[in-house]
Amino acid sequence: MNIKILCAALVFILLTAGCSSNKVNQQTSLPECTKTDCDCSDFATQQEAQKVLDKFPNDPYRLDGDGDGIACESLPRGEKTTAEAIAAANIHLKYGNPSNANLKDTNNYLLEKPQYALSYNCQTGTANWVSWQLNRSWLGSVDRSDDFRPDPDLPDGCYAVRPNDYRGSGYDRGHLTPSGDRTSTQSNNSATFVMSNMIPQSPSNNREVWRELETYSRDLVSQGKELYIVAGGEGKEKSIADGKVTVPKYTWKVILVSGNGNVENTIAVRIPNTEEVARTDWTDYLVSVDEVEKKTGYDFFSNLDRDIQQKIEGKVYK
Ligand code: MN
Ligand code: MN
Repeated sequence: MNIKILCAALVFILLTAGCSSNKVNQQTSLPECTKTDCDCSDFATQQEAQKVLDKFPNDPYRLDGDGDGIACESLPRGEKTTAEAIAAANIHLKYGNPSNANLKDTNNYLLEKPQYALSYNCQTGTANWVSWQLNRSWLGSVDRSDDFRPDPDLPDGCYAVRPNDYRGSGYDRGHLTPSGDRTSTQSNNSATFVMSNMIPQSPSNNREVWRELETYSRDLVSQGKELYIVAGGEGKEKSIADGKVTVPKYTWKVILVSGNGNVENTIAVRIPNTEEVARTDWTDYLVSVDEVEKKTGYDFFSNLDRDIQQKIEGKVYK
């Protein structure tokens, strides 16, 4: 056979082989190094390395040294989901957006304020949850501003609950983010008095057990801890204000406690929103974060790795 034809044929085979392997790589978007050899330093993010491990479960590149199915744990996690991106931009959502609150669903409507973030529910006339950071930087000595008012930031068509809507109902205008957690400046304190930060709370719940946990939280801060707190109501006891405001059956709160930047512990309570809690202690209502997740359907602290969530969400604080 003519040596030139043989060469041409060989070149052709090599080229097409190269092309087709290129195509495979493009389709599955596997990185270049899979053609030769990969190690963790070939990847910018854990997500990229995970793709390769998922593709080659026998791990020919030894990306999963500890054999737990997760490749290159030391790499940064990689591209963020929308919920994570929102959380990253807001310190009050540092550990997650429990219900994936957004700007489309008026019953899970994300409101981000400098002092806290919340998911508003136009149907119930209350927040589904409010989330806030608490550390020394928020604490000072300004007086309670007491300027209860409708929230001007609600979406179109959503009734803005007024301070008088609770009048005569037998329920307190109960703060979710406490006034006492925002005493650094007058405007920070005033921000806690919009009605979207209130739920109708039974007087004994609001003034006794709930308040005692608020005080305990600030005690932890004075010991140097930083807290990430999420609170809301659960269920429907009744409605007030001609049906515009739902009174929850329970109030709940979950707290992530960190010290020196490390997640240390969680505190969770679920408290009946009735007078039966009179002369009881907040510690009587301790549950696990997992329990509150089950009851509310929210996922707290979802930005933490799942194994860490499992570790800290299953126990009851003591
Ligand atoms: Mn959990
Ligand atoms: Mn969780």
